[in-house]
Amino acid sequence: MRPSPTRHLPLIAVGALALGAYALMSFADTPNEPNEQPTAKPADAPGEAATASDAVATFASGCFWCTEAVFDELRGVKSVVSGYAGGDAATADYKIVSTGRTKHAEAIQLHYDPSLVDYETLLEVFWKTHDPTTPNRQGADVGPQYRSAIFYHDEKQKALAEQYKAKLDESGVFDKPIVTEINQYDTFFPAEDYHQNFFALNPQQPYCRAVVGPKVEKFRKVFGDKLKNAPKKDKADDKQGAESKAELKKRLSALQWHVTQEAGTERAFQNLYWNKTTAGDYECIVCGELLFTSDNKFDSGCGWPSFTKPAEGGAVTQHADNSHGMRRIEIRCEKCDAHLGHVFNDGPAAAGGLRYCINSASLEFEENKARKEAPPEE
Ligand SMILES: [Zn+2]
Repeated sequence: MRPSPTRHLPLIAVGALALGAYALMSFADTPNEPNEQPTAKPADAPGEAATASDAVATFASGCFWCTEAVFDELRGVKSVVSGYAGGDAATADYKIVSTGRTKHAEAIQLHYDPSLVDYETLLEVFWKTHDPTTPNRQGADVGPQYRSAIFYHDEKQKALAEQYKAKLDESGVFDKPIVTEINQYDTFFPAEDYHQNFFALNPQQPYCRAVVGPKVEKFRKVFGDKLKNAPKKDKADDKQGAESKAELKKRLSALQWHVTQEAGTERAFQNLYWNKTTAGDYECIVCGELLFTSDNKFDSGCGWPSFTKPAEGGAVTQHADNSHGMRRIEIRCEKCDAHLGHVFNDGPAAAGGLRYCINSASLEFEENKARKEAPPEE
C-alpha cells in the first residue's frame, strides 16, 4: 500500500534508490493562488472530448502521483490533475478511496493539444508506464483503487483504446492478458490540493524517491523525443532549441525549472520581484525574451509581480487552464513556451482591468539605468 504523505516506506526501499537529479530541493507546502476553490467538486466534464486545440483524456494506472508526473512531461499536454474516477461524489475523498471499498480508481485527467500530441501517443505512454496485466494492483500498491482503466470521452477514443489494447494483446509484449478496463467517462473529482503536482513539489518524499522518480526516469528514456522541451527540429537555431533539456535544467534553479517547465507556482510574498519597484525590464528566464516592463507593474497585494499588460512587443501567449478545479488563463512565453503565470480580470480598471500574475522565478530583471538616473522632474 502506498503510505500517506506523512508515513514512510521501509528504509531498505528508500535507501536502495537514490535519485540525484531530484534531490535538489523540497518545497514545504503547496502555494496558494488567488481564486483557489475547494476540491471534491467534479472537474469540468465536457461531453465532447476535443476541439481543434483542446482535448481531454482520463486514465487510471495506479498511484496518481506517478501518472501525473509522467504525463506532465509530455509535449502537447497542457495540464494534468490528479483525482478520482469511476465512483461518486460522496466517496471522492482520499481516505475513503484508500480503503479500496469505493468504486473510484486513482486517476488523472489531462488537457492536451491534439495538434501537438495525439490520443494514440497518450495511449502508448499510458500502456508503457504501468503493468496492465495485474488486476487491481500496481507493484506494492494493491486494491481496486489502483486498477488499470481508460475512461473514454467519445466513440473515437473508445475505438482507439480498444484497437490499441487488441494490438498489444496480439503482439505478445506482455506474457499475460491485458486487464485494463475501457469504460465510458462519467465524472472526475480532483483530488485534495496536497496531491496535485505531488512529485514535483515533494521529490524527496520516500514514495517519490522509491517509486515515482524511477518511473519518471524510465519514461524520459523511452519517450525522450516526445517530451516538452525536447529540442524542436525546426527551431534548432534559437536558444531554447540549442540548449538541451539537461543543460537548461542545470542552468535553472529547481524552482525556476518547476515554474517554467512544469507550470508550477512559487510562494506568494517569498519571491524576488513581487514588491520590486525599480525601473527596468522583465525578461524570460529561459530564452531572454522581453516580456514585461516596470512601467506596467503595479502592487496588486497578491504577493506576485503583477502587470497590467505585457511589454510593448513582449510576446506572451494565452492558454485555457482548467487544472486544480479552477478555470484560469495561463500565460506562457511565446518564444520558448515557458510557463509564466496567469492573467485575471481584477486589475486596475483605468489600465484595462487585467492583472498578469507572474512568477518571479520565470523572470530575469534587467535594470534600466537610463530611467533610474534620469533627473527628478521639478
Ligand atoms: Zn521564453
